[in-house]
Amino acid sequence: MKSKVILLRYGEIFLKGRNKSYFEKLLIDNIKAKLADIDCEFVRTQNRYYIENYDEKLTDEIVSRMKKVFGLHSLSIATKVETDYDLLNEVALEYAPDVNATFRITVNRADKSLDKNSAQIGADIGAYMLERRKGYKVDLHKPQIEIKIDIRERGYSYVFRDIELCAQGMPVGCSGKGMLLLSGGFDSPVAGYRMARRGMQISAIHYHSFPYTSEQAKQKVVDLAQVLTDYAGNIKLFVVPFTEIQFAIHENCRADYMITIMRRIMIDIAERVAKENGCGALVTGESLGQVASQTLQSLTVTNDAVNGLPVFRPLIGMDKYEIMKTAEEIGTYKLSELPYQDCCTVFLPKNPVIKPSLDIAKKEQAKIENLEELIENAIKNIEITELRPCKE
Ligand code: ATP
Ligand code: MG
Repeated sequence: MKSKVILLRYGEIFLKGRNKSYFEKLLIDNIKAKLADIDCEFVRTQNRYYIENYDEKLTDEIVSRMKKVFGLHSLSIATKVETDYDLLNEVALEYAPDVNATFRITVNRADKSLDKNSAQIGADIGAYMLERRKGYKVDLHKPQIEIKIDIRERGYSYVFRDIELCAQGMPVGCSGKGMLLLSGGFDSPVAGYRMARRGMQISAIHYHSFPYTSEQAKQKVVDLAQVLTDYAGNIKLFVVPFTEIQFAIHENCRADYMITIMRRIMIDIAERVAKENGCGALVTGESLGQVASQTLQSLTVTNDAVNGLPVFRPLIGMDKYEIMKTAEEIGTYKLSELPYQDCCTVFLPKNPVIKPSLDIAKKEQAKIENLEELIENAIKNIEITELRPCKE
C-alpha cells in the first residue's frame, strides 16, 4: 500500500493555550469548506492534518487552495506507506534526486513498538541511499536534501521532503467582522487581505458615481472582492450611489477641501452600514503620506467623522512598492491595474489641501444643508452583492 497525501501544519494557533480548540475548529471548518467539492478524506492527528484518498490528478489544485487558508503554516506532499523497512527505503529513494548533494534522513518515531529507534532507522535508510546515490554525502547539520520519515502509530508512515509555506495568519472568523472601504485601486484589496489574514471576516463597501464612473468600474470592484473571497470566504459587498453627494460637495464646498469632505462622508456612511451589519471595525487601504488625503492631518480630519468604531489601516506603514508586490502575490494586481475611473478622480480639484484644518473642514461640510438626507438616501439605495468563493 502506498498513496499520496497532503500534510498540513498549522501556525500561530499553537500559541493559543486554553482557547486552542476554538481556533482549531474554525480552521478545520475553513479547510473543509475549501474541499467541499473534492472527494477526499480529512484526517486530524494531534498536531497535524492530512488530506488523503483523493484523486492524485487533483494534487496541485488542492495544494493551491490550501495555500490560501489562513491559519495554515505550511504543507508537504507526502507518501503514506505501511511501516515496513524495505518499503520505507524504496519510498525514501523516490524523494532522492540522483545528483551530487549532501543529505540527511530525519526520522520521527511515534510508534514505540518497533525494534529500532529513530537514529538507527535513519542510519539504515541513509546507508541504503548511499549505495544507490553515488553523488550523496551525509551532512546532519546543513544538508541540501533532507528526507523526512514520520512513523506513526497503527502501522503506517509518511515520507516527504519539501515544506511549502502557506499563507500563515489566523483562521478567518476568529477576529470579528470588518467593513473594508474597497476602491478599485491597488491598496484597499491588499488591506482586506491583510485583515482577513488576522482572522477578520470581511464585508466591503464601495462608492460609485454613476454615470461619471462606468459600469466597468463597478464590475472591477466586484471582481476584486471575488478574488478576496478565495482567502476571506464569503464577502457581502455594498455599493453606494455617491453621485448626488459628490455634486453637493462640488456645489457647496471649497475646492481644496472637496476630497477631505468626501472622505469624511465616505467613512461616516461606512460606519453606519458597518454598525447595521454587525461589523466591529472599518478597514481602509490608506498608507501614511501616500497622497494628500493620507497625511497625518488629513487622516485626523477623516477620523473625526467616525463615531466609535476603530479604523484599521493595515497598510499605514507600507511602501507602495511593498503593497504592489503583495497585490501581485494575491492576484489583485491585474484587476487593480485596469484604468477605469474611480469616484475620487471625478471632480478632482487641482490642489487638494495637504494639511486640512478640522474647523474649516467641518464648516465647509456644514454648508451642505441637506447632507443628512443625502446620506440616508444613499444608504437606502445601496446595492448588495453576496460573493462566495468560486471553485477554482
Ligand atoms: P486605493 O489604491 O485603495 O484606491 P488610493 O491610493 O487610491 O487607494 P485614496 O483614493 O485616497 O487612495 O483612497 C484611500 C482609501 O479610501 C482606499 O484605500 C479605500 O480604502 C478608500 N476609498 C477610496 N475610494 C473609495 C471608493 N470609491 N469606495 C470605497 N472606498 C474607497
Ligand atoms: Mg483610490
